[in-house]
Amino acid sequence: MNYDIVIVGAGPSGIFTALELLRNNSNKKIVVIEKGYSITKRKCPKAKTKVCVNCKPYCHITTGFSGAGAFSDGKLSLSPEVGGDLPELIGTSETIDLIQYTDSIYLEFGADHKVEGLEGIEEVKDIRRKAIQAGLKLVDCPIRHLGTEKAQEIYAKIEDYLLAHGVDILFNTVTKDLIIEEGVCTGVVIASSKGASTTETLFADTVVVSTGRKGADWLKEMCEKHTITHTSGTVDIGVRVEVRNEIMEKVNNVLYESKLIGYPEPFGNKVRTFCQNPGGFVSQENYDNNLAVVNGHSYKNLKSDNTNLAILSSHNFSYPFNEPIEYGKKVGELMNMLGNGHILVQRYGDILEGKRTWQKELDRSNVRPTLPDAVAGDITSAMPYRPMMNIINFIQAMDQVVPGFASKETLLYGPEIKFYSNKVKLDAALNTNIQSLYCLGDSSGWTRGLMMASVMGVFMGRKLA
Ligand SMILES: Cc1cc2nc3c(=O)[nH]c(=O)nc-3n(C[C@H](O)[C@H](O)[C@H](O)COP(=O)(O)OP(=O)(O)OC[C@H]3O[C@@H](n4cnc5c(N)ncnc54)[C@H](O)[C@@H]3O)c2cc1C
Repeated sequence: MNYDIVIVGAGPSGIFTALELLRNNSNKKIVVIEKGYSITKRKCPKAKTKVCVNCKPYCHITTGFSGAGAFSDGKLSLSPEVGGDLPELIGTSETIDLIQYTDSIYLEFGADHKVEGLEGIEEVKDIRRKAIQAGLKLVDCPIRHLGTEKAQEIYAKIEDYLLAHGVDILFNTVTKDLIIEEGVCTGVVIASSKGASTTETLFADTVVVSTGRKGADWLKEMCEKHTITHTSGTVDIGVRVEVRNEIMEKVNNVLYESKLIGYPEPFGNKVRTFCQNPGGFVSQENYDNNLAVVNGHSYKNLKSDNTNLAILSSHNFSYPFNEPIEYGKKVGELMNMLGNGHILVQRYGDILEGKRTWQKELDRSNVRPTLPDAVAGDITSAMPYRPMMNIINFIQAMDQVVPGFASKETLLYGPEIKFYSNKVKLDAALNTNIQSLYCLGDSSGWTRGLMMASVMGVFMGRKLA
């Protein structure tokens, strides 16, 4: 079959490419290849079973229309400083313009008009003052919070819009290979994602790969097979921290999300807070290789008594080892092994005292875990010394900004790992070294959030229109 444009992966970056093509009145024949289901058929069985049943052939939380966006917290970060490195590629002012434009599309499809983090100037000043005293930087980032349930509604409307305007979407279809001959990409090889061995070839003038974090390994394989120029990047290793809402109240009220960055001694690695969920829930994500990692989200209406956020320590490698994804996987596997396949949870006080946590000790705390199938245990037996020390020192600094953050009962869940490695080399027009092949979103290594991935899609759509 022949198309003008094949988009691999229906995450935010892929769907905003298609959407922007339509908004620019393009009459190009577009097909989106998506490994998972249409958004209305995406169901995480955990809602009923309460525990993760490790769905095969893929996890519904990250796979299907709107990718990792569907079950995400739906926090749109409205700052060019957050969610990826696009400003390095296309410039900061272009990124700001595109964020505003992309935000307006989310509004058109039903996003809440309220933007968090624009009020409480005096309170923000106080938080910043304390952050400076603690050696942390507070990044200004207004947030539009969609909420998990609303995010699904919005993406469902976008799916309907694309289908109604003639975009073909092949669900339950996986892209196995790229067809690249003499430096030109001419199509893709696809198959059913449910395990059938027969493959089919789709030819196209342009191929856009937007396979997300889940598809980063596959894209790396493609880069190596077809000599697509790329570099290994960073891996973020950390924990998800959970405290009572009362502890985070001030930050939650004025900022919604505290984006704090530090470089704690003695290692000086970048350590940061990420994805804060007031009244939220800790969640589990399963990668296809059975790696269970922790995450977090919050609903617009259903609220818990807790706030969770990630603390991530960034690591790069050079010589003689430069495989950050492999490093992150090994750390995650070790932690999964100690949790017998489950996410581990440990009290901060137990970490400082050098002991594991027991379930009965969790039951005594004010803070009740919102991930019920997490297993009490010992994160420190699996976390390497360097990220562990970075996390402990960062939590101590956070305690100066948010008193009570470093309390004995604060919960740490692990592993939280963000794989952004394998940065595909792109120029300012998003060209790769292969003619007619483009790589977008989280799988390209250039984004790590909903807004930045969507913005990259819009930029791509305009270029291809
Ligand atoms: C639980 C959770 C909560 C999150 N919360 C937030 C948040 O609040 N705010 C925020 O900014 N970010 C959040 N994120 C991150 C955000 O969801 C991602 O940054 C964003 O979705 C990336 O978009 P993408 O288009 O690059 O890829 P993805 O959304 O990952 O989509 C990629 C798609 O490609 C498909 N695919 C992969 N490989 C293939 C293949 N070979 N063939 C066919 N299809 C394939 C996948 O099935 C998937 O649907 C969260 C992520 C998770 C998992």
